[in-house]
Amino acid sequence: MSEKQNPATLDEIRHSLAHLLAAAVLKKYPDTKLGIGPVIENGFYYDFLFSQPITDADLKDFQKDMRYLVNKKLGFSGEKLTPAKAKEMFKDQPFKVELIEEFSKESKELTAYHTGDVFTDLCRGGHVENTGQINAGSFKLTHLAGAYWRGSEKNPMLTRIYGLAFMTEKEVDDYLKMMEEAKKRDHRKLGKELGLFTIIDEIGPGLPLFYPKGAILRRLVENYITDLQEKRGYVPIWIPHITNGKLYVISGHLQKYDAMYPPMELKDEDAYYLKPMNCPHFMMLYNTLPHSYRELPIRYTATTTNYRYEKSGELTGLTRVRALTQDDCHVFARPDQIESEINLMLDMISDAYKSFGFTDFWVRISTHDPENKEKYIGDKEIWSESEAALEKLIKARGWKHEIGVGEAAFYGPKLDFILKDVLGREWQLSTIQLDMNLPKRFSLEYADADGTKKQPVVIHRAILGSTERFLAILIEHFGGAFPLWLAPVQIAVIPVSEKHIEYAKSVAEKLDGFRVQISEENETLGKKIRSAEMQKIPYILVVGDKEIEEGSVNVRHYKKGVLGTMETVKLIAELKQEVSDKQ
Ligand SMILES: [Zn+2]
Ligand SMILES: [Zn+2]
Repeated sequence: MSEKQNPATLDEIRHSLAHLLAAAVLKKYPDTKLGIGPVIENGFYYDFLFSQPITDADLKDFQKDMRYLVNKKLGFSGEKLTPAKAKEMFKDQPFKVELIEEFSKESKELTAYHTGDVFTDLCRGGHVENTGQINAGSFKLTHLAGAYWRGSEKNPMLTRIYGLAFMTEKEVDDYLKMMEEAKKRDHRKLGKELGLFTIIDEIGPGLPLFYPKGAILRRLVENYITDLQEKRGYVPIWIPHITNGKLYVISGHLQKYDAMYPPMELKDEDAYYLKPMNCPHFMMLYNTLPHSYRELPIRYTATTTNYRYEKSGELTGLTRVRALTQDDCHVFARPDQIESEINLMLDMISDAYKSFGFTDFWVRISTHDPENKEKYIGDKEIWSESEAALEKLIKARGWKHEIGVGEAAFYGPKLDFILKDVLGREWQLSTIQLDMNLPKRFSLEYADADGTKKQPVVIHRAILGSTERFLAILIEHFGGAFPLWLAPVQIAVIPVSEKHIEYAKSVAEKLDGFRVQISEENETLGKKIRSAEMQKIPYILVVGDKEIEEGSVNVRHYKKGVLGTMETVKLIAELKQEVSDKQ
């Protein structure tokens, strides 16, 4: 080790660990056939064909042996191979031979990498200089999965061993804790436990149905957005869900958009389609009336469901569905109104994130590529003015942002909002997009002050994106324990025994305007409290003799625990405040 070592990168560490895994596997099971072992997000994997099934106990052995190899400070060294030499070297490894034949056909260079004298793999490189650069505690083999060789069902099924790897042991621990927490918060699990939604085979994958509690949550979220918009001069429209295919010829979707469901063919009429998005309907509606410059901006909104044929393998719970509801909006504006309209949208997004408890987010500003100006349509001045405005507005708010030069669509620049949930996971949510294409395709117009016809700019905007996906994020962010204003059941009133039911009912009556449940079932007090806690109801009010005498309730909060006796009137005032504060 006389040479000076460069610090190893995380990818080099992860990739080198894949080699060590293969070495450990071959040591214990020498007849194993090797697939490939790439780096992935958070770690690495390696695919193997074992001659007998392996277990979690094997993973422990492999991991132990990998640690042993790490500590031996083994060097990695490369060797260029001719196809003949490569085939000879890997003659017992049919998958490697297949790769060698393929690489030779493509005239790719063949290299083998030796790890000390314990293992040799066919590989392009990208390793640590020696295994001493790896922290022996900073990786962990986590689980097994099946995977077809090269992803094809026609090929043998291999066993994939996954490993986590970071720079330090603490990062591994933190990641494992986060995963554990994410499992507990999985919206599919909580959706079932809390009775929020379900997916039924006979109705179809990606088509969730909501139970009353889930439907209430949905409505609260959608009503919030409706109020937020209408307070700021946005007006609702309503559009149908099936549409004559002619519309999608004008919009270009039929030619370009591949997630549309096939047409509904009719005998004496044109074919109809389920709408995969709403923009064309908004454009058509605008166009049915004459507009003057004085009317603009026109801010149309609709919370409406779209239908997209997503592959069944890609559907998960509420995050990827085939029926997605958008809080959609299109603003028709004069070019001189772009900046103030976008600023108004930023106000709304900022309010919404605060209300839903998301404080950590950043913005991607996608602008045009100055090297490829011919790629873009629309007025050059509108492009440069609106891009400058986007950047200025985001900076003025002090929001974290990145500028993606060349990432704009051909028809306009855009803003995407990426938020971090309580576990630090990132979700892309809101979007604001300037559009100079649809106004042209749909020949949108307004009469300017001098009487000439002008083309408005369209700004597409969604705050939540899709209601379904937003609910998934919300459920996981709060772990199902929603703040008072969002909880489907806000308060459980629990009588100590049967003789306290009347009083419980009178308390519930006073809680007019709240979503209240009375636990009347003939169970012990302990059981009734536990059941309300399992439902993560924010407030539990226990009432017995003492409370009847005092006109009070005994208050427990889901997160804060027992708060003690309170006068009912005083509690109601506090709860009203809590709802209005959205805490
Ligand atoms: Zn390698
Ligand atoms: Zn749109």
